[in-house]
Amino acid sequence: MEGHFRDKARQLDRVDTLSGFRKRFYLPENKVYLDGNSLGLISRDAEESLLRVLDEWKTLGIRGWLEARRPWFYFAEQIGEMASGLVGAEKGELIFTGTTTVNIHSLISTFYRPAGRRTKILADELNFPSDIYALKGQIKQKGLDPEKELCLVPSSDGKTISEDRVVSMMTPEVALVYLPSVLYTSAQLLDMEYLSREARKRGIPVGFDCSHSAGAIPHSFSSWGVDFATFCSYKYLNGGPGCTAFLYINKKHFGTEPLMAGWFGCVKEKQFDMSLDFIHEESAGGWQISSPGILGASTMEGSLNIMLEAGIENIRSKSLRLTAFLREMLNSLPGLSGEGFYIATPEEDHRRGGHIALCHPGEGLRINEALKARGFVPDFREPDTIRIAPVALYNTFGEVFSLAVALKEIMEKREYLNYEKRRRPIS
Ligand SMILES: *Cc1c(COP(=O)(O)O)cnc(C)c1O
Repeated sequence: MEGHFRDKARQLDRVDTLSGFRKRFYLPENKVYLDGNSLGLISRDAEESLLRVLDEWKTLGIRGWLEARRPWFYFAEQIGEMASGLVGAEKGELIFTGTTTVNIHSLISTFYRPAGRRTKILADELNFPSDIYALKGQIKQKGLDPEKELCLVPSSDGKTISEDRVVSMMTPEVALVYLPSVLYTSAQLLDMEYLSREARKRGIPVGFDCSHSAGAIPHSFSSWGVDFATFCSYKYLNGGPGCTAFLYINKKHFGTEPLMAGWFGCVKEKQFDMSLDFIHEESAGGWQISSPGILGASTMEGSLNIMLEAGIENIRSKSLRLTAFLREMLNSLPGLSGEGFYIATPEEDHRRGGHIALCHPGEGLRINEALKARGFVPDFREPDTIRIAPVALYNTFGEVFSLAVALKEIMEKREYLNYEKRRRPIS
């Protein structure tokens, strides 16, 4: 059985048309890195664009705002435009700005307009904590009570959310729907097109946090009728720790006023008029707040070049093959069945994102520690989930095979018993 999978991995790597991209990344030495859903790796291309911007600062000083190769004053707009094809944004709908949670605050402050009976925000109980904190804060900002106004769609299995259940909760009291594209724990991919259509039918604006899908999965925000979205760029987009995020506004909302206003949201030709009247750019750019952190943002140019060269459809297709291969091994390698594992990630291609959530009630944490001790880099999320993200641009089928074999040996030898049941601040 193991031999069969080894051969299969070799064969899959041989015919992999994206294999050439691996050597453009810095891979941590002697590690099998499978944590690109948390922090993607740096590519030589990203390093190059960062070094170029550093150099421009040295040589141009203030003139870099207009005279750098990619002028800093237009950097956010241009990178937004470069990334548009990855998410199906039309001209002006995508801007490279802020950070995920700040963007959520800004977007919710714009799109959450409780009035009359419509006062509730509909989200889900498996949502990322930061998103929920922001929603609660925004409800309080409006002088309302989050206990009453935040409705969380319950999960029946603690791992996934039923889209039909979400739709059944889109009642006339709901003022806004805000959901993740891919759940950060189980990697369930929600049907954003269906949810957007159903919300639109009911006259409810809908927004998505696509931090766990951007760079791994193609999106069609504009044709799906998504009203707004945001996503970070340090996961599958490989922008680096805390890199600038993206913000999407459907063009039908360009005239709406951004309430967390700042001077970088001004009509660009007027920004330096220094008028005290805020006339915002009628594009996603109007939602910018501050001077963009060009150094931290600069990696994105190189990173996007790689993504565009590879093609998001090809990236998705390889990612699906990687996770399907991993699932197949986890399900059929002798030594793993009967050990108490289960896979929380939905099996169908159209329902899963870029990682596999391998759950082990009781010993998940220590099994993850044992994998780390053997040189693998997955991660662990409470209460029982080991997340394994083989990334299309830099991981191989051989690596996925080696992880499955290591896991089997860890279970056979009970290696996890050597570790403490104690979680470090980041695991
Ligand atoms: C990664 C992630 C975040 C992170 O928020 P930051 O503000 O970038 O720290 C938020 N929400 C979701 C769904 C995420 O996956």
